[in-house]
Amino acid sequence: MFSRAVSEIDQFLRGELSARVVDVAKVYRSRQFVSGWRITVKGADGVLHELDVLITSEFPYVAPRIALVDTSHFLKWPHVERDGVLCLLSENDLVDHTAPVAVLQLLLSEAIDLIDASVAGQNQPDFLIECKSYWAQAVDNGPLLHSLVRLEPPSRLIQIWCGHERTVAADGHAELATWVRNFRGCEQVPTDEFTQGLLLWLPAPLFPWQFPNSAAGLRRLVREQGGAGLDLLDSLIDERTVSLWVLLVSATADGPFAGAVFVRRAVQRGYGAPRGIRHRGFRERHVPRALSLAHFFGAGKVQLADVAREDAMWVHGRESVASAERLRASKVAILGCGSVGATIAVALAQTGVGNFLLIDPERLTGPNTSRHPLGAQSVGKNKAVALSQKLRGDFPHVNSAVALNRSWKQLTDGERSQIGESDLFICAVGSIGVELAINNWARSTLSCPVLYLWLEPFACAAHAVAIASSGGCLECGFDSFGAPRFRVTDWPAGSTTRREPGCAATFQPYGAVDLLGGVCSMADLALRCLLSEVQSSQHRIRVASDWRLREHGGTWSNAWLELTKRAEGDFAVTRPWDSAQDCQRCHPSSSR
Ligand SMILES: [Zn+2]
Repeated sequence: MFSRAVSEIDQFLRGELSARVVDVAKVYRSRQFVSGWRITVKGADGVLHELDVLITSEFPYVAPRIALVDTSHFLKWPHVERDGVLCLLSENDLVDHTAPVAVLQLLLSEAIDLIDASVAGQNQPDFLIECKSYWAQAVDNGPLLHSLVRLEPPSRLIQIWCGHERTVAADGHAELATWVRNFRGCEQVPTDEFTQGLLLWLPAPLFPWQFPNSAAGLRRLVREQGGAGLDLLDSLIDERTVSLWVLLVSATADGPFAGAVFVRRAVQRGYGAPRGIRHRGFRERHVPRALSLAHFFGAGKVQLADVAREDAMWVHGRESVASAERLRASKVAILGCGSVGATIAVALAQTGVGNFLLIDPERLTGPNTSRHPLGAQSVGKNKAVALSQKLRGDFPHVNSAVALNRSWKQLTDGERSQIGESDLFICAVGSIGVELAINNWARSTLSCPVLYLWLEPFACAAHAVAIASSGGCLECGFDSFGAPRFRVTDWPAGSTTRREPGCAATFQPYGAVDLLGGVCSMADLALRCLLSEVQSSQHRIRVASDWRLREHGGTWSNAWLELTKRAEGDFAVTRPWDSAQDCQRCHPSSSR
């Protein structure tokens, strides 16, 4: 396919356009082109332009690229990259790989249209529409500024953390300090790692020729915007200022855009230059203001930098998820940070839940890691503490992830009242006795929903029961021995647990993949609870595939087959969790 398509366009380019061969390895060193042809075309104004037609080894499935041989148009004409290559197709454009010459003719005519429009200055607005690309192309290996800042007016001072790991900007100092503590997993951050910068709000994005390329140019740009920007900028500079970050933010049709400028003070050089900074005979701290500003904002080059947005609203759905604010403000308490509880905690953190209370008395062991989001680095650590460290490190913008390394019965009244401040309480302790006791406490104490989670043998069925203010309580679905009234699987061969050499040390053998489907359903119900979509108690059941069940020696229960009429497995069912007339908790006068 490749050689036939190449020979077709070669014939066309040489025959009809008198093309010459281009040494692509030499001219386009940073690209993976395998062949190139040079042609001359005439623009609408009669001027001749040399173009290169370039192909990669994916040709003809991937269209050829067209390049301007004269690279001086970079950042002067839109859609021209640093090496002259033109952006004529978007990533999603499909091309007919069976008609390589037709595709090439279309691209060449688009290239000529682009040249004509650029010469006439008709397509300059394209620079503003795709401002992010042009800024990124101008950056050229600059530093990266990570941002938690709200990209909105007005111009204002912002906080900057300059750590050895990275540089991060935020609106408030407290927010930034929390982020850094979470990110580093430490309690104290040296104050000299924090400084201030400027966010300059621009009414529209900049054209590339407006990008500041010197410190003086940057200050001029700030002054031209009027308003408070210049005073704020100057307030950041004194004779000891070594460097400065300025964030340039503007509104575009596709949301806000931010680029950053980094200024480093020009260093005084030469024999006899004094230690520290001296200014024409003035002792440090006695330098006139104007001189100090003139020195900092001199002709020295500035570095343009890309901005990586890492604020919560961007991380969790790129500002397009309506529930993001609500989830960020919400709090989830999780009792039991084993494979189920911890996996759900991670999923909720990824979804954008902002506050966690994690409770578990146990330490992580090696075999735990086969189905737990924590790995060998955390073996021997308390599960709640290590999970909190993971959530804080992976999502440093979480507001809180408090760990309590205790069991339910070890919790103080104060700690239990922290559960009461949550929007959802998840019980994943895997012990029905404890959970029935919690149900008893929660029914009289909690106003938030409670989600109880358990698995049937080999994780062949995963149960999530959300207890809401109306409908049944947990006890409604269990008999007085704590056995569930509704079971999905039967195990004709008897006990399914394996023993470790210890009197109560039993475990259920199942792996991460067995768990995934069930935990997904559980996490989804948790999210519905947080978004107040569960008004009355609900039971969600997710089952493994039939062959998985049979492989382990299980069968579907009659009750399950009667409910679903489906034996193939691998699906989920949601049903109401009704109040039972003989539940001692809901109807204390009833007898079983
Ligand atoms: Zn009940």
